[in-house]
Amino acid sequence: MNLIIRGVTYEVREVDEIPPQDVDNADDDDVVLGALDWMHSLIEVRRDLPTERKTITLLHEVIHALAEDMDLSEEQTEEFAWRMYDFLRRNRFDVEMTWT
Ligand SMILES: [Zn+2]
Repeated sequence: MNLIIRGVTYEVREVDEIPPQDVDNADDDDVVLGALDWMHSLIEVRRDLPTERKTITLLHEVIHALAEDMDLSEEQTEEFAWRMYDFLRRNRFDVEMTWT
């Protein structure tokens, strides 16, 4: 699946694991659910997440890409992802992604 974010086409890829060493702000013992790779225009999300958690993780990474120049903290990004997910669901936006 591809998503266009601020004019850039990102590939969204489901992966079995995301090594914390590959993520800037992760500690070595963190379980990383998703990651945004600016250099390769790639978003990775763990395949084994429940659907709702997977969608929120994807939104989290999308918000990172959308808010690149807005200096959001990790906590603000996560809170924004949950609020966005809730907004989309309550207003019946189709937020279920087709993971292929
Ligand atoms: Zn993040």
